[in-house]
Formats: sequence, structure tokens, C-alpha cells
Amino acid sequence: MDLSNYFKIKNEIPSNVNILAVSKGFKSQEIKTIQNMGQNDFGESKFQEAFEKQLILKDFKQIKWHFIGRIQSNKIRKIVQNFKYIHSVDSFEKLQKISMISFEEKKNPSIMLQVKLSDDPTKGGFNPELLVTQWREIKQLKNITLKGLMTINPKELSSKENLNLFKKCRALSDSLQLPDCSMGMSGDWEEAIEAGSTWLRLGSIIFGDRG
Ligand SMILES: *Cc1c(COP(=O)(O)O)cnc(C)c1O
Repeated sequence: MDLSNYFKIKNEIPSNVNILAVSKGFKSQEIKTIQNMGQNDFGESKFQEAFEKQLILKDFKQIKWHFIGRIQSNKIRKIVQNFKYIHSVDSFEKLQKISMISFEEKKNPSIMLQVKLSDDPTKGGFNPELLVTQWREIKQLKNITLKGLMTINPKELSSKENLNLFKKCRALSDSLQLPDCSMGMSGDWEEAIEAGSTWLRLGSIIFGDRG
């Protein structure tokens, strides 16, 4: 595994920006290699795949697992039990369910709310205007720690279009007084940094191509 991109990006980004190593499609051995270099945050998008790696890596206590995939309602309990961060909460109903289950499980996951800033039909998320009107209600939910917003840009945008969408995400987070923005992937992390990302979700640029 060639970690030169990882170190290059790590050296280039401001100190308040975190790298989430997106290990979906990669094996626990590859996670161990990069964890050994001091990377402790790992993102997975499918519960079952993640859970198998979590079992193998259960003695690596420093690893913090982040769920970044589409959340199926019937998997919420397992996600709450096994992930410290959830980046992909895309509706108020799911957020309520996470809150209820976290209470029952005595957990308090860190939450990023996914926002839909473009009309890409393949991407879900909160409508930004609705999010603002629901904000009071959202803030009252127990056993969750609201950290920020998350967004996924459509593929094939120009650099400027990526930057503009990321700036919208940052502005919305700021208006809700949320510190974090989970935005930027292998193809658009530089624009995300410029717009004020605090969590880059990097897969292929670190681990190589997913088979
Ligand atoms: C796969 C994935 C990433 C990482 O994608 P790369 O292009 O490999 O960096 C980031 N965020 C989400 C939500 C993903 O599903």
C-alpha cells in the first residue's frame, strides 16, 4: 500500500481539518497498516461489511468508527451500538429514531446531518430550508451530539461548482452554530478545504482503487 498521498494531504491541510479514512471495500489488514501510522478515524458505508472488520479489529481500541452510508431504519440499533460518529443522517425521522435508540442503549453518537444542496436524484439529505425550520425540534433530541453537516457533491462538477456547493454547506453549518462540515472526497478535497471542511472523507486517494 502506497501511503504517499495520505502523508502529502496530511501535511497540506490546516490543523483543524480531520482525515476520515474511508475503508469500505478494503480489508482489515489495510486498516491496520494505516492505523499504525497514527490514523484512527475510519469510515464505512455498509453495516455488515463494517461489522466484520470491527470484530477482527476489536483490540484496536484507538480506532473510532464512523458510519457514512445510507441508513436503513432496521439497522439503526446496530449502527448506534457500533459507531461513534454517524455522518449520513438524512431525515428527521431517522434522527428521532437514532435519539430514541441511543437513549435505550446509553449511547451518545456524534451526528452530522446530511444536507441535499443539489438536485442530484441519487443523493438524499435534509432540505436546507426545512432543516432551518425544524432546528428547534432537532436541538431538543436527547442522547445525540450534533456536530455538523455533511454533503456529497454530484460527480463531474467543475472545481468552481464544487467550491460553491461546499461554501453553501459551510454557511449553513455556521448559521446553525455547528462546528463541523463533513465534505470533500478523493476528487474534490481541495475545494472542500478552501470552503472550510473539517472532515475530509478520503477513500481511493489513500487506499488505492477499490477492486
Ligand atoms: C466511498 C465514499 C467516500 C470516499 O470516496 P473516495 O472517492 O474513494 O474518496 C466518501 N464519502 C462517502 C459517503 C462514500 O460513500
